[in-house]
Amino acid sequence: MTHVTAIIREAIAAYRARTGYEHIRPRAALIDMDGTLYDSMSNHATAWQRMMHEIGVEVPHDEFFLYEGMTGAATITHLIGREEHRTPTPEEIKRLYHRKTELFTEQGPVEPMPGAAEVLGQFQRHGLRCVLVTGSGQSSLINRLAADYPGVFIPGDRITSRDVKRGKPSPEPYQRGMQIAGVQPWEAIVLENAPLGVQSGVAAGAFTIGVTTGPIPVEMMRQAGADIIFSSMPECAAAIDQLLIELQHT
Ligand code: MG
Repeated sequence: MTHVTAIIREAIAAYRARTGYEHIRPRAALIDMDGTLYDSMSNHATAWQRMMHEIGVEVPHDEFFLYEGMTGAATITHLIGREEHRTPTPEEIKRLYHRKTELFTEQGPVEPMPGAAEVLGQFQRHGLRCVLVTGSGQSSLINRLAADYPGVFIPGDRITSRDVKRGKPSPEPYQRGMQIAGVQPWEAIVLENAPLGVQSGVAAGAFTIGVTTGPIPVEMMRQAGADIIFSSMPECAAAIDQLLIELQHT
């Protein structure tokens, strides 16, 4: 048995132990966008940092990686609450999020994440329906998906910040993704790069793959409960075929 096989089998056994599911039959892949399909997180963090600077609040760049997956409204409410000890009004949230969106777009287009197309290709090859589950409301990126990953996502197979009451780490986004695909938790695989997103996938009961594509340490992914962790999307791409085969034969 290879090292990778051992890790995969151990991860599946631990998933079955935590969920109590006898059989796992992957039929849908629920996939995060920022930092997973696009190398966009650094630009998001820069946009957030600049927007907060404009209203007189200094926040370290990498802190925003911790908020990844939260809706924009939740991030604004958290930071204003912490810094100014008050709750922002809905109008203020809308204005500040709009400004953050402008500052993101100003930085120019972001690149698809290396390795992501290969992972999606393997999901398709194994007959999994791919559903986008993002905390983002950034239409400039969401609208590029069909061009950058042609034929992968059926139009409408997406949950964005506009579709949920509670964003990640609540299980709601991934539960809604399962509803769209018409699958149960033991039939769903979540692909995530952020600890809050991993928590959401785990709470929704799916086998949750965590990929560290930014400054988030592996240990945080483990603490968030990821069932298996890869250190990059190409590493995930190299192992995903075997992972899906092992899951299907559980
Ligand atoms: Mg992400």
